[in-house]
Amino acid sequence: MNYRYLTGFTGTRGYLLVTEEGACLFTDFRYTQQAGEQAPGLEIREIGTRWVEDMHRYLNEKKIGELGLEKDYISYQLYALFSEKWPDIKLRPEDKLTASLRLIKDPEETAAIQEAVDLADQAFTYILGHIKPGLEEREIALKLEVYLREAGASERSFDFIVASGKRGALPHGVASHKVLQQGDLVTLDFGGILKGYCSDITRTLCLGKAGDRQKEIYRLVREGQERGLKAVKAGVTGEEADKVVRDFFGEAGYGEYFGHGLGHGVGMEVHEAPRLAPAAADGLEPGMVVTVEPGIYIPDFGGVRIEDMVLVTGEGCRVLTKSSKDLIEL
Ligand code: ZN
Ligand code: ZN
Repeated sequence: MNYRYLTGFTGTRGYLLVTEEGACLFTDFRYTQQAGEQAPGLEIREIGTRWVEDMHRYLNEKKIGELGLEKDYISYQLYALFSEKWPDIKLRPEDKLTASLRLIKDPEETAAIQEAVDLADQAFTYILGHIKPGLEEREIALKLEVYLREAGASERSFDFIVASGKRGALPHGVASHKVLQQGDLVTLDFGGILKGYCSDITRTLCLGKAGDRQKEIYRLVREGQERGLKAVKAGVTGEEADKVVRDFFGEAGYGEYFGHGLGHGVGMEVHEAPRLAPAAADGLEPGMVVTVEPGIYIPDFGGVRIEDMVLVTGEGCRVLTKSSKDLIEL
C-alpha cells in the first residue's frame, strides 16, 4: 500500500528502499515490466529466490548501516529473516514514515476519493429500489458489491455490514443469512475502491413505517451526526470532536449505547489515521479525510448509525457524501 502511494506501482509484491540519494523498488519477474511503466524513472531491481541475499548486497553497496522498517507492514517473520541474514545492519521499527504523508490528501487524491464516495452514493440510491422484506442481509450485500464492481470499483472497501432488526444492535454486524422483515431498521455500511481510494458510507432505513422509539433513536443519531460535522475542523483534536457527540448522547440518556469512536481517516485504506475517538490527541489539519459516524445500539432492539465522509478544510469541513439523511421508510 505504501509503495503504491509513493511510486504508483500497483503490483502485489514489492519492497521500496528509500535512501538519502534516491529510491529503489525490489519486485519479482512478474512485475518488473509493470513497475517500469507505472513508476518511470525509479530504479527497479528484480528479485529472485535468493532475494534476501540480493537485497543485502545492495544495502552493502549503498553502505547502509541502519534501516527503518515499517512495523505495520513488515511481518515478524520477515523481520526475523532480515535480522538473521543481515547481521551487519541495524534494524529499527518505524510507524510514521509514510503514514504521516498519507494523512494529508492532495487535490488529486481528494478527487479520487470524491469519485469513490459518489459511487457509494449511487449504490445507495440503487439499493433503495431493491431492498425489501424476504431477502437475506447477504443478498443485499452482494447486490451492493455487484453494483459497485460493475460501475468500476476494483473491489469493495471492506466486508459490508447489513444489520437488520435486532442485529442492528451489533455495530459490526457483517451481513448474515437473517431475512429482512417488515418493520426492521436496516443499517447498511459499505463502500468501494476506485482508482486506489476507498469510500465508506452508512445509512439506516426502515422497512415500513417506523415506530416511535425507532424514530426517536434515529432523530438523536441524526442530530448527533450533524453536531459531529460541525465539530470537525482544523485545530480540533480527534478527542474533542468525538466528545461533542458523546456528550450529546450522554445528556439524552444514551451515552452507554455509543460504544465506538466517532470516526477514522479514509484514503487508500478504509481505516487509516487520524482517529476521532476518546484519547485521540492529534489535531485535525486541512486536507485530512475522515468519517463522522455516530451510532446508538440498543441490545435486543436494534440500532442506527449514520456515516458521512468529510474533507477537513481551514474553516470547517466539506461533506463529501450526498445521500439523504432523512429517515427513509420503504
Ligand atoms: Zn463504514
Ligand atoms: Zn467507517
